Amino acid sequence: MSEKPWLQLYPEEIPPQLNYDNKPLQDYLKSTAAEFPNKKAIHFLGKEFTFQYIYEAAVKLAGYLQEIGIKKGDRIAIMLPNCPQAVISFYGILMAGGIVVETNPLYTERELQYQLNDSGTKLIITLDILFPRVTKVKASTNLQHIVVTTIKDFLPFPKNIIYPFLQKKQYGLVVNVKHGNNNHLLKEILKGPNAAYIENNLHHEEDIALLQYSGGTTGFPKGVMLTHKNLVANVSMCSAWLYKCKRGEEIILGIIPFFHVYGITTLMILAVMEAHKMVLLPKFDAETTLKTIHKQRPTLFPGAPTIYIGLLNHPDLKKYDISSIDSCLSGSAPLPVEVQQQFEQETGGKLVEGYGLTEASPVTHANFLWGRRKPGSIGVPWPDTEAQIVSLEDGESLPPREIGEITIKGPQIMKGYWNKQEETENIIRDGWLFTGDLGYMDEEGYFYVVDRKKDMIIAGGFNVYPREVEEVLYEHPHIQEVVVAGVPDPYRGETVKAYIVLKKNTFVTEQELNEFSRKYLAAYKVPRIYEFRDELPKSTVGKILRRVLIDEERNNLENV
Ligand code: AMP
Repeated sequence: MSEKPWLQLYPEEIPPQLNYDNKPLQDYLKSTAAEFPNKKAIHFLGKEFTFQYIYEAAVKLAGYLQEIGIKKGDRIAIMLPNCPQAVISFYGILMAGGIVVETNPLYTERELQYQLNDSGTKLIITLDILFPRVTKVKASTNLQHIVVTTIKDFLPFPKNIIYPFLQKKQYGLVVNVKHGNNNHLLKEILKGPNAAYIENNLHHEEDIALLQYSGGTTGFPKGVMLTHKNLVANVSMCSAWLYKCKRGEEIILGIIPFFHVYGITTLMILAVMEAHKMVLLPKFDAETTLKTIHKQRPTLFPGAPTIYIGLLNHPDLKKYDISSIDSCLSGSAPLPVEVQQQFEQETGGKLVEGYGLTEASPVTHANFLWGRRKPGSIGVPWPDTEAQIVSLEDGESLPPREIGEITIKGPQIMKGYWNKQEETENIIRDGWLFTGDLGYMDEEGYFYVVDRKKDMIIAGGFNVYPREVEEVLYEHPHIQEVVVAGVPDPYRGETVKAYIVLKKNTFVTEQELNEFSRKYLAAYKVPRIYEFRDELPKSTVGKILRRVLIDEERNNLENV
């Protein structure tokens, strides 16, 4: 067997090796704007913006940032939902020589303060309704400047439609910020003269473009240093995978947030590199998404399982025409086979599972969009990407079908964690990234994730992989969402518990679920406990947070 059996599966259109442009990310906006000045780059809640407009706005912002003292390597945060200003900010910061720090607009003061301090951020670009929160943490951070924008800067709508994604009670009212005193209005900056910026000498492989905080599901988030090369490489791999897509002709639905690297690569950079239009939505809401697909006819739709599930379960799904969707890459969590098949039926397009992690910019594997797919598999490594399964005991490479840790090598692997040398050395060893995910490879080179290392349940001495149990339960016709976790058990150490959201107007007993599961699972894997909920805790990219449920269980036990 060859070391990389998957290469033989590649359709001839996908080269196993790629040549990467040796240029910084912002140069793609420049070249795309020169090639397609009047082509629409962004559609946002009814308004459209050309590539030329976005480019000129980014240039103005870059010039302004340099004028107020931003230097090469300074960290600059963006705390915005998906909107045109987020794109202008991203490219403007890079043009000025800054490092982008993506910040979740849902962060509390404490989380924001931690991230700003850890990264040493000097300037933040945010929304007016988030301004009070940012000013509150300013004194306890290195923050010197706040650039403020309002969605209204770009839209004629009244405020209650402008902020449908944020609730006022949670975020405060729109405030009037004045230009001056280290507070700056993006609108004023963009009205200014066409100031040029001074190009920095950027080293493609060394210089960091993005500091992306990750590790949100466990422990403290760490700043993942992604270089221009890391991101260019990952997006070039994605383009190679999407070989049927023609430059300048696709429309990408932009729901996954820019404050996750998955949104940065498969939306922000891919669209600019390939001159595709992005249809941006500030928040996932099934009804708005269906309406947007119906009207805007997007062809590409990167997403997460919970997004596809949400759409499939919308009562009015059949009212909308979603047949424009041609290719979808689902990442961030396991994609249930049922969901994949149903979504493909509804759209007539392809939905394939991909896999990755922030530390790999993020994608490393995907199932083939056009080629032989294996449902339930994360597919095969992308071009220039090596993957191995290694033993948890001795780190030795394991043969097909044996479960071990997935390790990855490739040009998309991060430079390291910001200011965390030891953690970097723990996770990257001999150039291999240790993902913390458990999986196996089959004889042909398709990979399967069975779970995260820390989520493995050991019940009475037997190993149970939640993924396997969830897959079975997802096949039950009444189950909309399920997550399985190991919860403390005085006798068995841990026991298997399933948290379930039922489809609307359905009912099922625990006994029925037991009987159903028993049909497909060894007795020790069948959940001992079921809990029915209205919803499950999720991260901003829609990943179900199993760890939150486990922590809840532990806390409950401690309080007994
Ligand atoms: P993040 O760094 O937030 O992107 O999280 C990365 C983690 O998400 C990985 O280490 C996996 O545990 C999980 N993940 C991503 N894609 C998949 C997938 N297709 N199947 C299972 N787990 C996934």
